[in-house]
This record gives sequence, C-alpha cells and structure tokens, in this order.
Amino acid sequence: MRGYHFAMSDRRLRILCLALGLMVFGPLAPCGPFEPYLPTGLGGGERARAQGLPELGEAAQAALSPQLERKVGESIMREYRRDPDFIDDPEVSAYVNLVGRRLASVSADAGREFEFFVVREPTINAFAMPGGFIGVHSGLLLASQSEGELAGVLAHEVSHVTQRHIARQIDQGQKMQWAAIAGMVAGILAARSNPQAAQAAIMTAQAGAIQSQLNYSRDFEREADRVGFTLMAAAGFDPAGMPAFFDRLQRAYRLSESNAPAYLRTHPLTGERLSDMQARVAATEYRQRPDSIEFQLVRARLRSEVDLPAEAVALFQRQLGEGRYMTVASARYGLALAYLRADDPKAAATALGLARQEAGPHPMFDTLEARIDAARGNRAGASERLAQTLRTWGRRDYLIHEYAAALQAEGRHREAIVELDALVRLRPREAAAFGMLARSHAALGHLAWQHRAQGEFYALSGSLSDAIQQLQFAQRANDGDFYLMSEVDTRLRELRSLDAEERAARRN
Ligand SMILES: [Zn+2]
Repeated sequence: MRGYHFAMSDRRLRILCLALGLMVFGPLAPCGPFEPYLPTGLGGGERARAQGLPELGEAAQAALSPQLERKVGESIMREYRRDPDFIDDPEVSAYVNLVGRRLASVSADAGREFEFFVVREPTINAFAMPGGFIGVHSGLLLASQSEGELAGVLAHEVSHVTQRHIARQIDQGQKMQWAAIAGMVAGILAARSNPQAAQAAIMTAQAGAIQSQLNYSRDFEREADRVGFTLMAAAGFDPAGMPAFFDRLQRAYRLSESNAPAYLRTHPLTGERLSDMQARVAATEYRQRPDSIEFQLVRARLRSEVDLPAEAVALFQRQLGEGRYMTVASARYGLALAYLRADDPKAAATALGLARQEAGPHPMFDTLEARIDAARGNRAGASERLAQTLRTWGRRDYLIHEYAAALQAEGRHREAIVELDALVRLRPREAAAFGMLARSHAALGHLAWQHRAQGEFYALSGSLSDAIQQLQFAQRANDGDFYLMSEVDTRLRELRSLDAEERAARRN
C-alpha cells in the first residue's frame, strides 16, 4: 500500500488491503475455465448493445470473476459484521432484504444472490460492494420520505451490481484497475465516518486516471439510473420516488458542496441525470402507491434507538403532541419501543395497544408485545404469544428468531434448537442465529454441535482462525453423529483453504 496515505482506522485499512490483496494476488485458479457471465433473458452482447455499452471483455472477466467478486465481498462482510454499528436487528434486516430482493428478483440477473444490510450511521449513504452485498446507512432510511424513495436508491445500487460495474471499472490497464478499486473500496469504508478522508482517498487513488475514472462513473450512474428505474416499475414501487429522493438530496446540499453526503460524492449527480429520471417518470403511467406499514415501523424502530431512552420517549411524545409524524400508528409504536428501552414496560404496553388500535394487527406488534411481556417477568406468556404469531402469520425468519430467543430465555433448549435449525437454513449468513444455536447446544452438553455452530458464527462474523479452532474442538469432542462429524471435516478443509488464501493476500 506504499504511496497511499489514507486517514483510516487500522481495521478499515486492513479490510482494504485484504480486498486488494485478494483481487491482485488472490486465488486465480477458480477463474478458469471462465463461466460466461451473461445476464439471462437477452444474450449478454445483445443486451449490452441495446444499452449502448461496451460488451464485457475477456479482460474484465479475467480480472474479477463473479466468484472472486463474491469472495472479496464476503471478506469485507466478515469485517462489517464485527462492527458494533452493524445492525443485526432481524426485523430491520428482514425489511431491507424484502424491498431489495423484490427489486433484484425482477432484474435480468434474478438468480444472483443479494444481501442487504443496515449500518448505524446518521449520514445519508448506500453502497454496493463486490459480490452483491449492499449496505444502507440508517440515516438514509430515516431521510427517505416514502418507500419509493428508499426503493429508488436500492434499485440504483442493485443495478450497479447486476451491470457488474465494479468488474467493468477495472477493464482498462492494470494501473488504472487497482487504483480504481482502491478508490472505490477505500471510499466506501472511509466515507462511513470521515467524509474528508474518503474524498482524499478517492483523489489519491485516482491520480493519473481521474478523468477516465469520472467518465466511467457518469456512464455507470446513467446506466444504474436507467436499469434501476425499470426495476422499480416492474417490482411495483412508485418510480417517482427515485427522482424525488435525489432531487431533495441535491437541494439540501446545493449550497454546501463540502458538506454533501458521501452518497453524492460516490454517485455524482448531475442536472442531466435528474431530468432523465423525471422524464422517465413523466412517460410512465403514474400511480401513487401507499407505503407499506413495515416501512413506517422500521423507521420508527431505527428512530427509537437514537439518543438516550428518555430523549427517545420525549421525541415521540413531541411528535404525537404536535401531530408531526408519517402515521400515528408508527409514532405510537416508536413511543412503545422507547418506553421499553427506558425500562417502563407498562407505559410501553399502553402505547403499543394504541398503535394496534390505529393500524390493526401486525407481527411486528406481536414481537414487541412479547418483549414487553418478558420485561414484566412473564416469559411463558412471551413464548406462547410468539408461537401463536408464527401460526397466524407464517414462518417469517424474524419471527422464528424472536420465538427461539424466547424459548432460550425459558430454558427450553431442545425446542429452541428445532427453531434455530430452521432459521439457519432460511438465513445461512445470519451469524447471530449460529451464536444462539451454539448456546442451546452448550446448555445441553452437545459439544461437537456447539463447536460446529460456534465455528460458523466466527466464520461469518469473526476471524477464520477462531472458526477453525472451533471446528478442531468439534473434531476432538467427537460426540456428534456420523453426518455431523463428516460435515465438520469438510467445513474445516474449506475454512483452512480460505484462511490460507487470505493470509497469502495479506502477505502481499
Ligand atoms: Zn451510483
């Protein structure tokens, strides 16, 4: 990394070096024979021509195959998941994944795996990382005035991924390639806490290639807008949300370019882009689409976490008193959450009851009510309520998570394991579920099962070396059945080779 001067934390710098190392020196073996990466539907060439874009060259594929892209993304995600600001609230995560995947599922690349996550940051930003991982700052969710606006930003980011902009960005000469990736990854990571550092990182990394870098960016921005817009319409979101969000963002920051949110710097917004978006909306049959109740509830949930509990209570009380809220139900729900944080479950129950009267039944009301029950010492009531909610609303992953946690709190570990096994099948990347699974197995003295689950927890959220150690413990305990023990052996081999690759990348 000589020659680069980033004002970044060690951890973020390590993520960057790791990502670069993997790309430059990483495992080249899995790249050949090339899997032709063609969007389904139209042939790739036809599609690229239709969009007036250069076709993907061999060079781009050689530089960054989809498999390698995914691997780089997963390495970065391992670091992200350890960040205390990574929001692992299953209800928030379920919601952004619902919106994001609804958009991705109508794309020309519907088979691709996507993961959406939320980071606790007040700034307005969203970013696509290699491999289909898309991050959203809580500040962006709170700044969105409608679900269409949020969907507009996500559609744009999904399109950066489906159009393979990261791989295409490195289609030019080697020097340009790594400088561009350095700029992108450093920019993404540094932008989170320090906009100046991000700007500096991007400038430094682009030295010598600034102009072509900017041109690329504008082309990609235009393409992401265009493709994103078709996703919005096809997935049934209000396409007017896209220009509405960007327009508001631009108005808010027009006078202070230096304070512009990271999002505007990583996604340069021009007047031309805005008028293109508005023209597309004008040409569409306009249909006002109401926001889902989840959009309102998730925003209230994020808002209730800001500030100290007493301040959060005061905030929602003020909103309700002054009538300044999106919906009265979401303000009452936020107030109930804030009361629970402030250790006043009785007041929380009252506020929640009023929210329910306004909006009718909803599973997110049930999970909160179960938490209130538990806070009042009625654990059996909490798990009974959640069992009923699962029967009524179906086996949604966040409900299973909540139910399993309630069973654990009651010491009903056998039942919790049944639920958690189902949950990790539904959400194989949710580290928290594996952590819970390890706890229940530990309580029952199932050593091999415990270490297997704990190993997966570390593989997803911590370090590979800790994960490997857990699997070695599992081998030594050797108290699982034949299937478990051979699964442990296989997983241990995989993790060791992944660990060796990452170490090699770091040495370089
Ligand atoms: Zn963009």
